[in-house]
Amino acid sequence: MDTILVVNAGSSSVKFQVFVVEGEGRLLRMIKGQVEGIGSRPRLRANGAGGDPMADRAYPIEAIPDVPAAMSVAGEWLRSEVRVNPLAVGHRVVHGGPDYERPVLVDHGVVSRLERFVALAPLHQPHNLAPIRSILANFPTVPQVACFDTAFHRTHGPLADHYAIPHQLHAEGVRRYGFHGLSYEYISRSLPQIAPDIAKRRVIVAHLGSGASMCAMKDGLSVESTMGFTALDGLPMGTRPGQLDPGVVLYLISEKGMAAAKVQEFLYRDCGLKGLSGVSNDMRELEASTDPQARLAVDYFAYRVGLNAGMLAAALQGLDAFVFTAGIGENSSGIRARVAEQLRWLGVTLDEAENARHSSLISGKNSLIPVYVIPTDEELMIAQHTLSLLMNGHSRNTRHKRVS
Ligand code: AMP
Repeated sequence: MDTILVVNAGSSSVKFQVFVVEGEGRLLRMIKGQVEGIGSRPRLRANGAGGDPMADRAYPIEAIPDVPAAMSVAGEWLRSEVRVNPLAVGHRVVHGGPDYERPVLVDHGVVSRLERFVALAPLHQPHNLAPIRSILANFPTVPQVACFDTAFHRTHGPLADHYAIPHQLHAEGVRRYGFHGLSYEYISRSLPQIAPDIAKRRVIVAHLGSGASMCAMKDGLSVESTMGFTALDGLPMGTRPGQLDPGVVLYLISEKGMAAAKVQEFLYRDCGLKGLSGVSNDMRELEASTDPQARLAVDYFAYRVGLNAGMLAAALQGLDAFVFTAGIGENSSGIRARVAEQLRWLGVTLDEAENARHSSLISGKNSLIPVYVIPTDEELMIAQHTLSLLMNGHSRNTRHKRVS
């Protein structure tokens, strides 16, 4: 059985999925699993594609102190118990910097180049690279592919790519990269089947999950994003504030005496819905709560999605469709209804029943702009990229844009 392993490694968990390669390059999901609680209370959990449990085991903390150890436990389980020996491994890597505009087959040179972007994504990039390094060391003949969250946005023009800061910093890599690119790419590839008449037109995609951003697409390509240099910018998120006057950061440093590491921790973990509500970072809890601060957080979220939609519609010079995706976008009819209210000035209306049913097309009959709900699948996107690089040979390894 030919399989592709997809790995998404973070600081405290390594998520993995296995896809079976069927005829004509079709991919069928077989296993979804994760090693969670790395360095605290490690646990391996895995389910089959239909949700049937395959493994649920706790490990002592010394057995899985870090990401490479988690990768080796998951790999050993897959090899010896499930008899999965993947043809190739595809990795989610948050930052491809200015260099990479598409996925790439990994070798030691690529890993070194990607290490340069650790400073740009210190909370994600080191963990994304750790399993790549350990597979390179232990299974050097297994092809690995790095798929970047930034790559889909490399089509941005100079106006979308710059901050108004001295050029030298842009040359060093201080740019508006944009993230969630694998999700947007999946939506872009799905649109021709779901809505062929608008797939190539002006579309805003709202990826609303625990991380949240929006992408303006034209011709199926990204022209603008609400995220920038890091995944902190743009929309409010579960624990990140979204757009923030840099003066607030200066205030935290100069008036509150916070060191850089403290500010980073604060901005990534204590703000957003959690900070504003003081109740939770989970939209389900906030929607169910009667706490006034929780209500403010929900209102704020919908308001900012609407505000940013206005900005992206201006970037597109109009709007032909709006798409909701990710955890909140796919599952919360309440948030979708609130966002649609914010978009009413654009002529958006929802069909209440279709919205409650989480249908694919949820706009009202008279809506000037069709509104869709499209479940995203970043892992399938990674598996597809990995298989296609595998089939097209290793020549693409060098096809990345160089920093100018
Ligand atoms: P994601 O990061 O895409 O996996 O999205 C995770 C987030 O989606 C969770 O933190 C929840 O806030 C949100 N979510 C999931 N299901 C629902 C739901 N039924 N209603 C509201 N929010 C939800």
